[in-house]
Amino acid sequence: MSDHSISIVPKKSKYYDNIAKAEEILEWLISKDIVKPYNSDCILSDKKGYAISNGAEKITDYPDSLPFFLTINGLEITTQKEVFHTGESGMEKCICPNCNKDISQEEWSFIDDWYSQENDNSICPFCKDVIDIHQLEIIPEWGFSNLGFTFWNWPELKKDFIEEFREKLNCKINVVYKHV
Ligand SMILES: [Zn+2]
Repeated sequence: MSDHSISIVPKKSKYYDNIAKAEEILEWLISKDIVKPYNSDCILSDKKGYAISNGAEKITDYPDSLPFFLTINGLEITTQKEVFHTGESGMEKCICPNCNKDISQEEWSFIDDWYSQENDNSICPFCKDVIDIHQLEIIPEWGFSNLGFTFWNWPELKKDFIEEFREKLNCKINVVYKHV
C-alpha cells in the first residue's frame, strides 16, 4: 500500500526559534491526545515520530479513515531546512510573481537557489529576477521552511484545526499533500 501525508509548513524559510516552537506544538498536540506522548517507529523515514492517539478523531471529518491499524501512522517533526513537496503529484503549475510565466516545466534550479542559501530568495529561470520563493503560485501547494509537521496517512484535517495550528505558528502556512 502506498503512503500519503499532510504537512503543515510555515511560509518562512527560516522560522525563528524553530526547535522551541516544535516542542511547543508537540506539547499542544499531546495535551489534546492527538498524538502519543513518546516517540516510536511510526513514520516513513528512519527517524522517530509520535504515533496517532484517540484525540485525532476530533480533528477530522473522516475518523474511520484514521490509520490506527497502520504501522506508518504518526507525526513527523522537521526542524531542518527542507523542501516539502507533493511526491508523485509533482507540480502542475508554478507561476513567477514577476513575469507571470509558468516555470514548473523548467529545470528546477530555483529550488536549488533557495536551498543553497539562508533567506527566502530564489531566481526565476525566465526573467532572472530575484523572487521570494513563497510568492510563487505553486499548484498543488509546496512548502519551504526549516520547520514542518507531517501527519502520515491521516485523512483530511478539519479547517478549524488547521486554522488553530496556523495561529500557534503565528504566520501564513502551506498545507502540503504528498503521495509516495
Ligand atoms: Zn519570472
